[in-house]
Amino acid sequence: MSRGNYCQIIVGGRPASIQGLDEIFDVLYEQGRQPGDSSLGAALIEQARQRHNYIPKPAVDDFAQAMVSEYRKYVEQRLCGCKPKPVDYGMWRGHPREQVPWFPTVALDLCDGCGACLKFCSFGVFETTEDGKVLVAEPFKCQVGCSSCVRVCKPKAITFPPRNVLETFRSGR
Ligand code: SF4
Ligand code: SF4
Repeated sequence: MSRGNYCQIIVGGRPASIQGLDEIFDVLYEQGRQPGDSSLGAALIEQARQRHNYIPKPAVDDFAQAMVSEYRKYVEQRLCGCKPKPVDYGMWRGHPREQVPWFPTVALDLCDGCGACLKFCSFGVFETTEDGKVLVAEPFKCQVGCSSCVRVCKPKAITFPPRNVLETFRSGR
C-alpha cells in the first residue's frame, strides 16, 4: 500500500491532517511566495482544496493561519539548504499511521496546565503552550488503542474518539 502524503498541523489548538502539504509548499516556494505575502493564506487554502482536503468555511481563517505558520518554517529550512523530510510515523495493521484517526484531543478551556499528561506519556505526544496549557503536538505518535492519559487528567480535558472507529482498520486491508 502506498503511503499517503499526509502531514498534520495544529489548527486552532487541535491537530488536523492535510493531504499533500509538502507538494503544496513546493509549488508555492517555486513560485517565489514569501511567508509575509498578504495573499499567501488564500493560495495555501486553494492548493489544499485542489488536493481534496476538506476545509470547512468557518475554519478557513484558522487553517490559513496554521498553514502560513508551517510554510514559514518550511521556507526557513529551504533557505538553510535542508528541504524538510516528511516524518515516517510507521504503519498500523497495514495502514499508514497518519490515516488512523486515533489521538487525544485536549479541551483548552478545561486544561489547567498541571502537566500530568506530559509526565505520563513517554511518546512525545504533548507539548506545553505559551500560555502554560498543553496541546497535542504529535498526534500520530500516540499509540493506537491507548487512552491511558485520560485517567491522569483530573479536569477531564482529554478525550479520544469512540473505540469503534478502529474497527474499519482492523482487517489490515
Ligand atoms: S493532564 Fe489534563 S489538565 Fe493536566 S496538562 Fe494534561 S490536559 Fe491539561
Ligand atoms: S493515549 Fe497513551 S500514547 Fe497516546 S498520548 Fe495518551 S498516554 Fe500517550
